Amino acid sequence: MKKCPFCAEEIQDEAIKCRHCNEFLAALPPAKPKTPWYAKTSIVVLSFLTVGPFALPLVWFNPAFSRRKKIIVTVIVLVITYALSVVFFRAAKTILDYYKQVGIF
Ligand SMILES: [Zn+2]
Repeated sequence: MKKCPFCAEEIQDEAIKCRHCNEFLAALPPAKPKTPWYAKTSIVVLSFLTVGPFALPLVWFNPAFSRRKKIIVTVIVLVITYALSVVFFRAAKTILDYYKQVGIF
């Protein structure tokens, strides 16, 4: 026997519905919804550091993020990705120019 958390009456341990107050007990204890592994902020951040913009689906399928947060994160990631590719291509061009001066190409 256990006590109904709603009316404090004694009920069966296996009961999913209290016969005294008709409250459903199946959802008890009120455990907070478990965050799936891919929705953990650390995993999302790590994904962005490794695969960059390809980690965006993780944000969009993340139940812990609101729609507004998803849009903000998406915009930030796209801006950072754009900035990084600009820096990368500039660096590549500089290196190529250097090689041309040296006479390899
Ligand atoms: Zn009850």
